[in-house]
This record gives sequence, structure tokens and C-alpha cells, in this order.
Amino acid sequence: MELIFSAPATPVVPVIGSTALFPVHRIYCVGRNYAEHSKEMGGTGREAPFFFMKPADAAVAVPSGTVGQMPYPSKTSNLHHEVELVVAIGKGGANISVQDAQQHIWGYAVGLDMTRRDLQAQSKEQGRPWCTAKGFDHSAPIGPIVPAAAMNDLQSASIKLTVNGDVRQQSQLSKMTWNIHEIISELSQFYALQPGDLIFTGTPEGVGAVQKGDILEAEIDGLGQLTIAIS
Ligand code: MN
Repeated sequence: MELIFSAPATPVVPVIGSTALFPVHRIYCVGRNYAEHSKEMGGTGREAPFFFMKPADAAVAVPSGTVGQMPYPSKTSNLHHEVELVVAIGKGGANISVQDAQQHIWGYAVGLDMTRRDLQAQSKEQGRPWCTAKGFDHSAPIGPIVPAAAMNDLQSASIKLTVNGDVRQQSQLSKMTWNIHEIISELSQFYALQPGDLIFTGTPEGVGAVQKGDILEAEIDGLGQLTIAIS
């Protein structure tokens, strides 16, 4: 096969304690998966969560012990942080049951669903898609993937984000409206999941703006830290 130009490189995320890399297929995201965040976005906290996507090459992989760089994006003056658990799919499938979901998980990571909040608000008002608000270049910083085999139960883990050392978001994964297995089951009814899919599972309350020069440190028990600088 002759390609008319070189195919773009597959985006990859490092695996903790290994030289192996996780190749990214798609990035799915869950909206409003914590009741308190749903409320701060104007909801009641009782609505069903929903899905949206980012391009695979929006991922900014940050190896452990390093500081990732995220350029402040164009066309916004209200860039928000959303700290999230990311689930990495290792085995594909459609119509996966909640009971079978665990066997499709390869690992977990800490991620940031960076958001142009001003564009998102406009999109909501006008009934337009969220792509420019959510799926822009560099909008998905992610730390190294920890294999599921190496993890204990994550449901009781805490999740936290600091900006320049100040705590902005702090919650527990147990507060998710849809738990990890329910997310995989729901999502797989809309899309055939593939190895390499990443699922950002939603953010707790406390989202807010960041500026050029800010340092963001995201953390989930057992998954280490993800640090990025906004440049
Ligand atoms: Mn989010």
C-alpha cells in the first residue's frame, strides 16, 4: 500500500514502571458523573451522565516525575481544569455487561479534561456541539497508566487537584454517579470499544480557571501524580 503522505504517529501513553507504551485509539469522556459537579454546572445532580469525545492526539502524555507542558489555548479566556480518573481499555467489545466490564480494563491513570468553559457555555446556549470547547489540541493531559492487575479496589480512592499548591478539587471516586463498570457497559452500547480506548470518567466539584504560568498537580490514590504547567 502506498500512502500519499506518512501516516501520523499513533498517540501513546507510558506505562508505569515499564518501557512499554499504551497506544491510544479513542478518547471518550463522561459528562456530569458527580452530583456536586452537576449542580455547580446548573443541574440538579440527579440527571443521567452522558458522553462526548476528544481526538486521540489531544492526549498530552506526562511520564512520572516530569512536568508536562500545556500551551494556553487560543479562542478562550476561561480555561478550566477538570481532574478525572481515566480508564484504559485493553480488550474491546460491544454491549458489555456490568458484570463483565472489569475484564475489559487494562489500567488506570490520572487525567485532566481541560475545557474552554466560555465556549462550552456558548455551545449550550445555542444548542451546538461541544467539540471546540472540549476536543482541542493538548486538551487531555494524562499521567502514566497503572496496570489494573497491580491495583486494589479504586472505588474508595480519593481524587484531588491543586493549582499552585492550593486545593481546588477534592473528592472520592465512590461519589461517581455511574461507577467504572457501569460506564463501560453504557458506553459499549453506543460504540464498539477497542483496545487503546481511554475513558475520562468525569470530574468532581471545584472546577475553575487557570492562567498562563500556573502549575496543576492532579492526584488519585494509587495512581500517583500528574503535573502540568500552563505555558
Ligand atoms: Mn470532564
